[in-house]
Amino acid sequence: MIAIIGAGAAGCFCAIELKRRLPHLDVVAYESASKPLAKVAITGGGRCNLTNSFEGIRSLKEAYPRRDQLLKRAFHTFDNRQLMQWFEREGVRLVTQSDECVFPESQDAMQIVRTLLRNMEQLGVKLCLNHRVIRIEAEKGYRISFADDRQQPVHADAVVVTTGGSPKMSGLDFLQSLQLEMVPPVPSLFSFNISGMSPYMGIVVEPVTASLAGTKFKAQGALLITHWGMSGPAILKLSSHAARYLAENAYKAQLLVNWLGDMGEEKVRILLLEMQQTQSGKQVGNTHLPQISSRWWQALIGRAGIRQEQKWGEVGRKQLNKLVAVLTADTYAIEGQSRHKDEFVTCGGVSLSNLNLNTLEVKAHPGLYLAGEVLDVDAITGGFNLQAAWSMGYVVAQSIASAVAPKKVAEKF
Ligand SMILES: Cc1cc2nc3c(=O)[nH]c(=O)nc-3n(C[C@H](O)[C@H](O)[C@H](O)COP(=O)(O)OP(=O)(O)OC[C@H]3O[C@@H](n4cnc5c(N)ncnc54)[C@H](O)[C@@H]3O)c2cc1C
Repeated sequence: MIAIIGAGAAGCFCAIELKRRLPHLDVVAYESASKPLAKVAITGGGRCNLTNSFEGIRSLKEAYPRRDQLLKRAFHTFDNRQLMQWFEREGVRLVTQSDECVFPESQDAMQIVRTLLRNMEQLGVKLCLNHRVIRIEAEKGYRISFADDRQQPVHADAVVVTTGGSPKMSGLDFLQSLQLEMVPPVPSLFSFNISGMSPYMGIVVEPVTASLAGTKFKAQGALLITHWGMSGPAILKLSSHAARYLAENAYKAQLLVNWLGDMGEEKVRILLLEMQQTQSGKQVGNTHLPQISSRWWQALIGRAGIRQEQKWGEVGRKQLNKLVAVLTADTYAIEGQSRHKDEFVTCGGVSLSNLNLNTLEVKAHPGLYLAGEVLDVDAITGGFNLQAAWSMGYVVAQSIASAVAPKKVAEKF
């Protein structure tokens, strides 16, 4: 019997691919919750951003800031295109948005959930709900124990751990006896708490470059001002890249924002000097740059010490320099992090050092595999996290299938 621990994205996908390859094998998925795939059901705000076209991605490191090498190997076996074909073959029509995120055309995450569950049922994957695994021990294969002591421990020939991200180290206690190396988990994908932003709530500036002072962490994209601080793709991306740094610094850091994307100081100075010449009689507050809304422009010139009614011709060199600095490297104190309704993932988990990266099998424990967010792998938003889960689930299914010569399946498991 092969036990899958956790019926989420990676676990269910792995179970299906295993049963397709080895139909005679008993595959049992143990799930702690009363429903399988509960997280998938709420992904993408209930629409499920199941993958990404990857067209804007030049290097995998942009999407997977820490463990891009593992994903590079996994995508070699099963990538986003194969994933899209997989769902389309199952009758799920997909749409790729202009921002490269891929969703079911129905805009309904439950279609993804139903498709996976239908396949599991048709193939005969056994699903045991309300089975929280509290211990896995290497004993005659693997012995799996459950939190509910009315549920007898079971023995499995092979185990696939797909329990997802855990914000606390204690969430990985069930693996303790296997003595795996762990990377302390910290949250990734969050917004920044910055005081004084609430009057500007709802303003979006696109694209900005957001970075953390004194570090190399940098991200581009849209920035959304919220009532508690800043959010939007640029901030979420930056939080992902700097997840560990920010955790180590108690979520206190200096945020630098270039409100004009990647335009450098010199270019901005020339632009402003041009405005000064061509609009010298006009009020600065009424002549905003096209990239910045008038409401936010008025706030920014205020940060540079320029009055709304001041004419361009009255702006001195010092004020102009200050405005260049505000537009290209505006500084804000990050005071904390908020997750609110943003999607979030865990950075950290079971260290990849435990694994054969080609098969996702634990080197010290043959027959024990891990896939998905339980591993020290995470991505920025945009469908990359789910793609990682699908690809790793697929890799494990293929690894198990090729580790077992078809003729010997019955004898081995
Ligand atoms: C609100 C939200 C929205 C998101 N939206 C997106 C999106 O649109 N696109 C995207 O790419 N990513 C998104 N993500 C991230 C994505 O959902 C995860 O990265 C992905 O689900 C990870 O898959 P997984 O199989 O590793 O874990 P999960 O899907 O989390 O599955 C793990 C399963 O294991 C079970 N489990 C845990 N511990 C035990 C145990 N001890 N015993 C038995 N079962 C256990 C859990 O109950 C769960 O069902 C979102 C995340 C959140 C929180």
